[in-house]
Amino acid sequence: MIQRILVTGGAGFLGSHLCERLVDDGHDVICLDNFFTSQKSNVSHLLGRPNFELLRHDVTLPIFLEVDQIYNLACPAAPGHYQYNPIKTIKTSVMGAINLLGMAKRCGARILQASTSEVYGDPEVHPQVESYRGSVNPIGIRACYDEGKRVAETLFMDYHRSNGVDIRIIRIFNTYGPRMHPFDGRVVSNFIRQALNHEPITIFGEGTQTRSFCYRDDLVSGMISMMNVGSGFVGPVNIGNPIEFTIRELAETVIDLSGSRSELVFEPLPSDDPTRRRPDISLAKEKLDWEPKMMLREGLAKTIDWFQSIQLSDYRPPTPNYK
Ligand code: NAD
Ligand code: UDP
Repeated sequence: MIQRILVTGGAGFLGSHLCERLVDDGHDVICLDNFFTSQKSNVSHLLGRPNFELLRHDVTLPIFLEVDQIYNLACPAAPGHYQYNPIKTIKTSVMGAINLLGMAKRCGARILQASTSEVYGDPEVHPQVESYRGSVNPIGIRACYDEGKRVAETLFMDYHRSNGVDIRIIRIFNTYGPRMHPFDGRVVSNFIRQALNHEPITIFGEGTQTRSFCYRDDLVSGMISMMNVGSGFVGPVNIGNPIEFTIRELAETVIDLSGSRSELVFEPLPSDDPTRRRPDISLAKEKLDWEPKMMLREGLAKTIDWFQSIQLSDYRPPTPNYK
């Protein structure tokens, strides 16, 4: 059935792909964004489509729309950028959740929160299962993001329990792919940009910390499945790729795939940087019949191709914090 769908953060990396999929599926899509970490060009190819609309708005402010579904993705996601104005980051997660849950309640809309593996902090349980309550430093430099996302989950559950709002929560693990902001400062975009320019690859710490990288198409499929699953399942559910790599292995793979002459340089590890991260996706498999399909080398090759196709001068670094 055709739905009226709001995607907040819809001009961003994941949001723009989600909008594309929803528009192609015939839905009536409103993309809302303040363009803090994105730009209009991410969705300019959709502007001529009759079932797509673009709104510049900040989710910390109320907005009144009539919709059937809301995907709430608005929030800077890369550490350097979310730490640039930490108070704004926490306001975005918390006030954004309140405003959008209010809209969902008024419209009777279903609302999905793009939460994060960061709710687990620097985890003592490995791989991370949804029942693990996490190990977050509430006063550290990542807290504006981690605690903001944790409060947003709390608000979602409370609007659900107290007001019967139809919610969904997904916890997204590191996701990459074409249309990542080349200056987002995240590890995949940094390494590819550096490798293609034959510049030193900046490894923070010794590169022994791990992440598990999910390709954006797999992630978007999981997100849409969760939004539309029946049987009263609200989550939270982990969506990510369960194959774990060290950051050093990632650097070596990027160098290999791009034929780069870059060397590895080691820089200080930022505080509270999680030492390991890998999702347990048993729940997603069971409830959504979902698991990722794209292997890292293949996904990185596609991402490298995309980086080679763009002009870096077309992209404005959102903040100076992108290395
Ligand atoms: P992104 O930075 O490309 O997208 C976020 C979008 O939100 C941007 O377009 C930005 O301009 C917009 N935005 C930020 N603050 C806003 C505000 N106050 N009002 C309106 N719009 C605002 O990042 P992404 O990787 O596409 O992430 C999308 C969502 O998924 C985020 O909520 C992020 O926390 C979550 N997530 C992503 C990952 C990942 O690895 N990509 C992992 C975990 C969670
Ligand atoms: N990282 C790195 N070099 C970079 C950028 C990031 O070694 O140029 C490391 C970072 O310290 C972290 C991992 O790569 O351990 C993933 O960082 P990212 O910012 O992509 O996301 P996170 O998972 O930490 O939120």
